[in-house]
Amino acid sequence: MMIIMKANATPQQVEGVITSIKEAGLNVHLSQGVEATIIGAIGETHNIPLERFESLDGVDLVQRITQPYKLASRQFHPENTILGIDGFTVGGDEIAVIAGPCAVEGRSQILETAQAVKEAGASALRGGVFKPRTSPYAFQGLGEEGLELLAEAREKTGLSIVVEIMSQVQLDVMVKYVDVFQIGARNMQNFNLLRAIGETRTAVLLKRGLSASIEELLMSAEYILAGGNNRVMLCERGIRTFETSTRNTTDINAVPVLKNLTHLPVILDPSHSTGHANYVTAVARAAIAAGADGLIVEVHPDPAKAVSDGKQSLKPEAFAAMVKQVGQIAQVMGRRLAVAQGEYTKQGWA
Ligand code: PEP
Ligand code: MN
Repeated sequence: MMIIMKANATPQQVEGVITSIKEAGLNVHLSQGVEATIIGAIGETHNIPLERFESLDGVDLVQRITQPYKLASRQFHPENTILGIDGFTVGGDEIAVIAGPCAVEGRSQILETAQAVKEAGASALRGGVFKPRTSPYAFQGLGEEGLELLAEAREKTGLSIVVEIMSQVQLDVMVKYVDVFQIGARNMQNFNLLRAIGETRTAVLLKRGLSASIEELLMSAEYILAGGNNRVMLCERGIRTFETSTRNTTDINAVPVLKNLTHLPVILDPSHSTGHANYVTAVARAAIAAGADGLIVEVHPDPAKAVSDGKQSLKPEAFAAMVKQVGQIAQVMGRRLAVAQGEYTKQGWA
């Protein structure tokens, strides 16, 4: 249920409504937009009549949120959410480009990639240290050592770091290092993990599950928002279909559909969507033209030698060309590339 306050409602009247929501046994989520103050009353609301809140001082309108996801819905929060990550924003006029290897493999690999993507115009650095591999015998990631290397790359480039978390067991060690938690496709419905991330105030990039509907993605986002962490961005990364010429099928429709249903920023991953480096740039262009707020792209200095996802990883030169094209499309859309504001000194990686 959402309670829309009158434009001239006083802070005392807002407080009065909050008290009344709590008395009804519901959770309060305050959304103070430029246009309106909306107070969400979230929980088992079906037995509570609208009149209970309609008569309170300062209340303009009380409405039920019709979608099963509440805090994630655009009905509850009509304006776009703009997330501030260290050095740039996501969800406003800026287009964020997160880039880096599938996995952190070693010091020179991650530092070299970080420098290259920074020079090409990336806004943040990605790199997995706990990898969800289909085979238990495949490289599983460097763990905390990888986090330390990412932190070093951040220090040298000023790029924020985006790292996948697979289990809440990893939370304590990761929260000290990462700027953005990535929740991968395989964990989109790991509800315990979603709840644990909801307790933090670290930004989250939540990827769509391999066969998840858009509504299921939004319900997963709702878990994080319900915990009080509203720093969530969603990521379309391709879904499973009958098509075998690409690793997954990019659901480009998901971009405008999500932008319509939710206020949360929408990122697209052209690397896992296509599975082939040759197709990444075309799909990246399409994503921005469709209205995505950013991209997450795999880049490796020597894709042939990558321990994971080499086939879909761009070489730094190809990434730089992609960023240029995407920047031009951003302009057509009345937007611009986010440029990381961090300190960057060209001191080499010795
Ligand atoms: C990744 O980003 O490297 C990854 C494993 O992605 P996804 O969860 O989308 O498969
Ligand atoms: Mn990968």
